Amino acid sequence: MSEFIPPAKPIIGDEERHAVDRVLRSGMVAQGPEVAAFEQEFADHFVGGRTTVAVNSGTSGLHLGLLAAGVGPGDEVIVPSFTFAATGNSVALAGAVPVFVDIEPDTFTLDPAAVEKAITDKTKGILAVHLYGHPARMRELGKIARQHGIALYEDAAQAHGAALDGSPVGTFGDFAMFSLYPTKNMTSGEGGMVTAGSPEIARMVRLLRNQGMERQYENEVVGFNARMTDIHAAIGRVQLTKVDAWTTTRQRNAAFLDAHLEGVVVPPVADGAVHVYHQYTIRVADDRDGFVQALKDEHNVGAGVYYPIPNHCLPSLAPYAPGLDLPETERAAREVASLPVHPSLSAADLDRIVAAVNAVVGAGA
Ligand SMILES: *Cc1c(COP(=O)(O)O)cnc(C)c1O
Repeated sequence: MSEFIPPAKPIIGDEERHAVDRVLRSGMVAQGPEVAAFEQEFADHFVGGRTTVAVNSGTSGLHLGLLAAGVGPGDEVIVPSFTFAATGNSVALAGAVPVFVDIEPDTFTLDPAAVEKAITDKTKGILAVHLYGHPARMRELGKIARQHGIALYEDAAQAHGAALDGSPVGTFGDFAMFSLYPTKNMTSGEGGMVTAGSPEIARMVRLLRNQGMERQYENEVVGFNARMTDIHAAIGRVQLTKVDAWTTTRQRNAAFLDAHLEGVVVPPVADGAVHVYHQYTIRVADDRDGFVQALKDEHNVGAGVYYPIPNHCLPSLAPYAPGLDLPETERAAREVASLPVHPSLSAADLDRIVAAVNAVVGAGA
C-alpha cells in the first residue's frame, strides 16, 4: 500500500536548526532577546502590533490571560464544549466555573443565541474558540458582551492568520491566545502567545509568567514560571517567516478537497471570514468511526477526530455541567472527521485523499 498520509505534519527545516544552534552557542538560553524579538514580530505579523506576551504553552496563555482579566472564584465564563479540553480547563484553573454552551452546526463555533441565554449575574466573560481555524461570530458575540457589560476573550490556538470582515483574530477580545504546539499552523516546539487588549492585561500576564516580578526580586503578585525559552523563540521566529505560505497552501488544499469530494458535507466558510484550515473537517452522519477506520485500513489515509468527547462529558469537566445536554455539540462529536490538509501534502497525496474518501463514502451509500 502507498505510504501513510498523516493527519498533521510539522515542517521543521535547516533554518530552525541553525537558529537553535545560534542560541545554544550564545550560552544564554532562557527568556531573553529572542523572546522579545519574537513577541514583536508575532504582534506585527498577526495582530497589527497589539501588545503580545510569549508564554510556555497555549494553555498557560489562556490561564494567565483569564487571571490577568480578573477572572476568579465566583465568576462564570461562557465557553463552547466542542473544543480541546484546555479551553474549559483554563477557566477551571482560574477558579471560575466554565459554563458550556452549544455551537452553530455550520462553523462549529459558539452559537450567539445560546450564549445570550447562558448569561447570569455571575458571568464575567465569553471565551470564544476559533475552532479549526475558522473565526467565531465575533461581531454578534461582541455586541452581546457590550450589552451585558461582560468581557470577550479569544482562544485562537488554531487560528493564526484567520480574520473576520478584515480584522484578524486576536484583535477582538480583551485578550487572545495563540498556541505554538507542533501540530498547530506554526510551532515553537511548545509555546503560546497572548495578545492583550490593554496595557494592564499585558503587564499582568508578564507579571504572572515570571513569579509576579517586573523588577528582579520585587515580587508584586503571586505568579508562575510560564516563561518561553530563547531556544523556542528562535524556532518560532523562523516559522513566522514561513507561516503565510503554509496558510496559502492549506487554503489551496482545502479548495481542492471542496471541489472534488463527493457525498460529504465540506466545511462552510461564513461571509467575511478567512479560514486558515488548521483542520479540514467534514461531517459523516452515518458511522463516522467506521469511515475513519476504513480510510486508514484500506487507503492508508489518516483522518483525525477533533473532538470525540465534548468537554461537558469529560470526567474532568462534567462536574461543572451536571445533566447538561448540548445537542449540536453532541452531534458534531459523533459526526466530525478531519482530513489531512497540511502544507506537506503533495498533489498525489491530495488525489489519494479524494479517491479514498469518495470510495469509502460511495461504498457505504
Ligand atoms: C492546542 C489548543 C489549546 C492549548 O494549546 P497548548 O499550546 O497545547 O497548550 C487550547 N485550545 C485549543 C482550541 C487548542 O487547539
